[in-house]
Amino acid sequence: MLLADKVALITGGAGLNGLGFATARMLAEQGARVVILDLERADPAGAAAKLGPQHVGLVADVTDKASCERAAKAAVEQCGRIDILVNNAGITQPRKTGDITGADYDAVLDVSLRGTLYMSQAVLPTMRAAKTGSIVCISSVSAQRGGGILGGPHYSAAKAGVLGLARAMAREFGIDGIRVNCVTPGLIATDINKGLIPDDRMQGILDQIPLNRIGEPADVAGCVVFLASPLAKYCTGITLDVNGGMLIH
Ligand code: NAD
Repeated sequence: MLLADKVALITGGAGLNGLGFATARMLAEQGARVVILDLERADPAGAAAKLGPQHVGLVADVTDKASCERAAKAAVEQCGRIDILVNNAGITQPRKTGDITGADYDAVLDVSLRGTLYMSQAVLPTMRAAKTGSIVCISSVSAQRGGGILGGPHYSAAKAGVLGLARAMAREFGIDGIRVNCVTPGLIATDINKGLIPDDRMQGILDQIPLNRIGEPADVAGCVVFLASPLAKYCTGITLDVNGGMLIH
């Protein structure tokens, strides 16, 4: 197993159809003890219980710095260490540039970008003390091509911000043995886009994907586990595209 004795935190991991839960499951299959962090309404404890009794679910709102700090502290108290953080929580909104309100901007950037900063800040002292750690941030193809399929420009901006933040943290914390990398998923079938793409539009999208299918959560999970694991021990600051070839660049 790749992650025996490791403790892995994942934000936004409770949605059973999401990338986060698929990743949590694969981390657990590789031997990690997983701490699922999510909003109360998403029932992180219930999701963790589905993985097995050794796994933990904690309520945490990544937009709230104190909530992130409480979650990291509780994870250390319950599991003794933090080896891996997956910054996965994110929301999107279909908007045109002119329609983005201040509240829309705050909502989208706060979860993906502020949340990635706050949760990373919360675990970094523990990782630095241990002189080891791996942080994987979920960005999006939307960051790279200026718009994915559903998200508005503020979503592209948030996810592009995640790429910059992750690369900067990779530079800053390499000296402490901490790796920071990103995954940029293409279109993956989860609740974030369920029922939102009409069939006729889907065919046009598939025509642009060389592997000719939309992704499954496990397609992303495998790449996150790779980056989190010692297999990727000389990778930091990288962006791993997981999009079926939608963006070859
Ligand atoms: P999802 O809606 O199933 O999962 C998002 C999770 O984030 C949910 O469990 C939700 O409760 C949680 N969340 C929302 N706000 C939060 C907050 N303030 N604090 C903590 N948790 C919060 O969507 P998904 O498709 O699984 O998305 C996971 C990540 O992947 C997101 O960052 C998303 O932007 C990104 N992504 C998804 C796709 C795709 O096509 N599905 C493509 C590229 C990137």
